Amino acid sequence: METQIIPCNSCTPAPIPSKLGNQSNFSPKPTLSFAEKPHPKVADSYLNYLRKNGRLSEAVTALDSVAQRGSKVKPKTYLNLLQSCIDANCIQLGRKLHARIDLVEEVNPFVETKIVSMYAKCGCLDDARKVFYEIRVKNLYTWSAMIGACSREQRWREVVELFFDMMEGGFVPDSFLFPKILQACANCRDFGTGKLIHSLVVRCGMSRCLRVNNSILAVYAKSGKLSSARRFFENMDERDRVTWNAIISGYCQKGDNEEARRLLDAMCEEGVQPGSVTWNILISSYNQLGHCDVAMELMRKMDSFGITPDVFTWTSMISGFAQNNRRSQALDLLKDMLWEGVEPNGVTLTSAISACASLKSLDKGMEIHSIAVKMGFICDVLVGNSLVDMYSKCGDLEAAQQVFDMILEKDAYTWNSMIGGYCHTGYCGKAHLLFMKMKESGVPPNVITWNVMISGFMQNGDEDQAMDLFRMMEKDGKIRRNTASWNSLISGYLHIGEKNKAFGIFRQMQSSFVIPNSVTILSVLPACANLVAWKKVKEIHGCVIRRNLETELSIANSLIDTYAKSGNIAYSRTIFDGISSKDVITWNSLIGGYVLHGYADNALDLFNQMKKLRFRPNRGTFVNVIFAYSLAGMVDEGEKAFSSITEEFRIIPALEHYSAMVCLYGRAGRLSKAMEFIEDMPIEPDSSTWAALLTGCRIHGNIGLAIRAGESLLDLEPGNFLIHELILKVYALCGKFGDASKTRKLEKENASQKFLGQCWIEVRNIVHTFLAGDQSSDVLYSWIQRIQEKVKGHDIQHGLCIGEEEREEIGGVHSEKLAFAFAMVGSNAPKVIRIVKNLRMCDDCHRAAKYISVAYGSEIYLNDSQCFHYFKNGHCSCKDYW
Ligand SMILES: [Zn+2]
Ligand SMILES: [Zn+2]
Repeated sequence: METQIIPCNSCTPAPIPSKLGNQSNFSPKPTLSFAEKPHPKVADSYLNYLRKNGRLSEAVTALDSVAQRGSKVKPKTYLNLLQSCIDANCIQLGRKLHARIDLVEEVNPFVETKIVSMYAKCGCLDDARKVFYEIRVKNLYTWSAMIGACSREQRWREVVELFFDMMEGGFVPDSFLFPKILQACANCRDFGTGKLIHSLVVRCGMSRCLRVNNSILAVYAKSGKLSSARRFFENMDERDRVTWNAIISGYCQKGDNEEARRLLDAMCEEGVQPGSVTWNILISSYNQLGHCDVAMELMRKMDSFGITPDVFTWTSMISGFAQNNRRSQALDLLKDMLWEGVEPNGVTLTSAISACASLKSLDKGMEIHSIAVKMGFICDVLVGNSLVDMYSKCGDLEAAQQVFDMILEKDAYTWNSMIGGYCHTGYCGKAHLLFMKMKESGVPPNVITWNVMISGFMQNGDEDQAMDLFRMMEKDGKIRRNTASWNSLISGYLHIGEKNKAFGIFRQMQSSFVIPNSVTILSVLPACANLVAWKKVKEIHGCVIRRNLETELSIANSLIDTYAKSGNIAYSRTIFDGISSKDVITWNSLIGGYVLHGYADNALDLFNQMKKLRFRPNRGTFVNVIFAYSLAGMVDEGEKAFSSITEEFRIIPALEHYSAMVCLYGRAGRLSKAMEFIEDMPIEPDSSTWAALLTGCRIHGNIGLAIRAGESLLDLEPGNFLIHELILKVYALCGKFGDASKTRKLEKENASQKFLGQCWIEVRNIVHTFLAGDQSSDVLYSWIQRIQEKVKGHDIQHGLCIGEEEREEIGGVHSEKLAFAFAMVGSNAPKVIRIVKNLRMCDDCHRAAKYISVAYGSEIYLNDSQCFHYFKNGHCSCKDYW
């Protein structure tokens, strides 16, 4: 019957099949018209014939003939046609069929359900939903079709809602539908519904169905209700690999990998062989926790169980290593993977290429690029994006541009990588051109694009362009600025040294109700690490508390450091004491703060406490510790600490440790020992080493070594006029003029250059600036004169009298004295004075500060170019060594 053909008048005659089963009733030529001799059976057969031969569009046209004759087709025929549309994934024909539904003899729920499935499976979920809601009489299949459709599209919430609608309509899912609904519950972590279904399953007598049980377990495990999951798991009569995978993955998700591993062993004991999924769950979990070595060990074990690591195993290992700063190993693994004959996927290649980008390894990046080309991944947008990013970061912008041009379906990430590449290398003009092009493309710039452009212009010193873009983004770009947009401006201003502008933006940001994040805080805080910005530090601290950022360790550490540098060591201590889980930076910050303020004992106490609590000191710790011993005059202990760096802690000392040692010897007056130490250094001394020796010579009056240190300094920094001046002064002291050839040239070049002492003092929220020799105020001068007389003879002069500044008799009164006078004259003497100075303060001003701290009972914090001084009760924290 099925091979019979019915010619129709509305379409081109169909070719006659070579073998016709029963053609006696029919003419081979299209002479018979539907309009004349209606016969429903005949219509169905013909339609089936066309369908089986893949001639679907003809079948649809044939339906129109059926319609013209006023005839109908059987539901079965119509269902088969719909199924063929699904198989051919042909939505156009499916829609035509749907439009002809009236031709079906009797439209039943099965037919309607098939229409739902047809739309869903052809990717038109909205149409499927529309049809579904129009169906008045639904059966279990109708519900299953709709739930299946939503589940395929991962509309988990909708699946759960459909389940409740279905129950309301009086339908209970069967053992096939339950797992689908439970999967949705698991994926949206809907523990409540999962529990409800669990009790329903028990009532329906399905509690022995393994498929259903596995799904219930997965809901409990994925929702993080591990104790419920574990109880359910223990009570299951039957367990298969899926069961074990679900419980193991639950523990992994919670980060309890140890228990997950115990379960793996138990699984084997129970005779269930772990599959590649089981191994991959564990391996990926260990990688995510950063325990790449354990993951690696598991991969080897997996092999010994006879299960070959698959692409997911390798990919998990490669991205694990790449994300944990072990990028070279990640690349080695890719090589091994290819060697083993496992084909990488897009994710594998993307991880490996990103590793090359971070390593800035152009060669390896190019190698993987050619692998990607060979394996046909070049159209993969993820791979393409990572290539653009890699070439940009490696500075090969031409190659980046080439890959960029080849990506047909560019997404925002593609554009952003390319624009970012041009910005970072300083080609802001090119970046801007691309930015304009992007605006015209189908992918409009997103907030990241705007931010990249803003920070690009800022970093290249084009403040105006950056500000223009910043203003335009909301108005023209219709993109809301986010915290990162503000951060780009702030860090940009800091980058070009405009601290006040950066701080202004920080304030504006808060008044615009944009919430600063840790990046904001960590960039503005260090900018306030000076004595005259201490109120700003408090302001930022207030913001940190309001935004609940004080629990972030990096911020707390930065606060400790900044408070110390702005002269509030007590606040540093309070914050330190409030941190429950300290790291080595926390300890270093406070130890460094104590050293800065001259509290050697506190610093060393803290160091001992740190060791007792088994914190491993690092390079930074030792620099501070040696300085602390130096301050305390404990040369032997300092030496011991220095040798412990290598012997006990296996750290190679850096230049900063050597300089600290020179300071240790210098302070103790052991200058020849200091010189010997420098000569024995395994690395070339740098200017800070020689500067440390010069300070020692200056204080202890050793002219010979001072010349040696000064000349070495000048060799390292031949253009440094300040050093040149110092040497001339030393030469003058010892009557040595002959060797001045080195300095004479500089003298000519810098004849007009003078170093003017300048200082800043903060009084009542305003920062005032003073210049040496400023004579604009008589009041200040008479105060200074009075003080000067009292200071004379107060302290005896010592050391080599060489200063960076002109002596006061020649260059006029030094700026810090003017600042002292400004603070003291008139009102009551302030309790605390904070001053920042651009040059090293001279002996005379140092004595004056000590005197004022006794006579007026004020504490004076003064940060000069050399040292942080804290004057109190006639003493300075530097112990007169700076
Ligand atoms: Zn002075
Ligand atoms: Zn001092």
